[in-house]
Amino acid sequence: MFSLALHGGAGTIARATLTPALEADYRAALAAALATGTALLAQGAPALDAVEATVRSLEDCPLFNAGRGAVFTHDGHHEMDAALMDGASRRAGAVAGVRQVQNPIRAARLVMEQTEHVLLAYPGADELARAHGLPMQPAAYFFTQQRFDQLQEAIAAGRMQLDHAASPAPDPNWKKGTVGAVARDQRGHLAAATSTGGMTNKRYSRIGDTPIIGAGTWADARCAISCTGHGEYFIRAVVGYDVACLMEYKGLSLAEACRVVVHDKLAPVGGEGGLIAVDAAGNLALPFNSEGMYRASRNAAGEEQVDIY
Ligand code: ASP
Repeated sequence: MFSLALHGGAGTIARATLTPALEADYRAALAAALATGTALLAQGAPALDAVEATVRSLEDCPLFNAGRGAVFTHDGHHEMDAALMDGASRRAGAVAGVRQVQNPIRAARLVMEQTEHVLLAYPGADELARAHGLPMQPAAYFFTQQRFDQLQEAIAAGRMQLDHAASPAPDPNWKKGTVGAVARDQRGHLAAATSTGGMTNKRYSRIGDTPIIGAGTWADARCAISCTGHGEYFIRAVVGYDVACLMEYKGLSLAEACRVVVHDKLAPVGGEGGLIAVDAAGNLALPFNSEGMYRASRNAAGEEQVDIY
């Protein structure tokens, strides 16, 4: 028995402007990532391998705000954050502000397995990836015209924004969504992985919640969590760890703990977004307080779902 959930970002996803063709593209990409992780878990692979592979598949898809489709910083660059955590051992690895590694989630795993550290940032993180032979890419690989136009609009509006958050006229062609995955493998071990380009028009060197262990990414023996949304709020709410604490100290179920954090704590203060979560029994929760969240899952009974709203 195993289960897997993934997300491709949460935010305002205007129904009116999401064309059938574009929606089909998103659904296909989410289903493909789900198939990647599911195939590994079905073979008995560890949860950590499954979430890494799932996130890699989403990083390589230009539809999502991670890896290839990462958004622009205010000064016109890409700075990507990623993290993963193994629940059984509580080992974790993360990178922040990387600009060249094709798959930031692979770099995060290198930090976990090849260094004594948890979080490496900026050129040193890219250098580690290069030294270990990970594929590196020039800035052009991460360039898309839509993302660039999105930056110009965000600058004109004078704010940092979720790449898919409300703008006067949400453009369906904007590339969307931080990505993440959580899994429970056949041995009952849990893992979480998250990867993002961050927020459009962010100040250079800004780091979001994604690579902050306990905020955007968390896994222990009880639950595994991957978040998406306005990172500053998720950091201050220590979202991932708060879910784990509500389960451990208050005895809440996974679903109830997630509901409290996403709807009772984040929503009232403007912390737009959502998360995906799995517990040791393989239960899944995918709550969000935004209009939509790209997501897919396969529960312990083998039922698969792909949803946007
Ligand atoms: N949480 C990400 C960040 O703040 C953005 C997102 O999930 O869309 O960097």
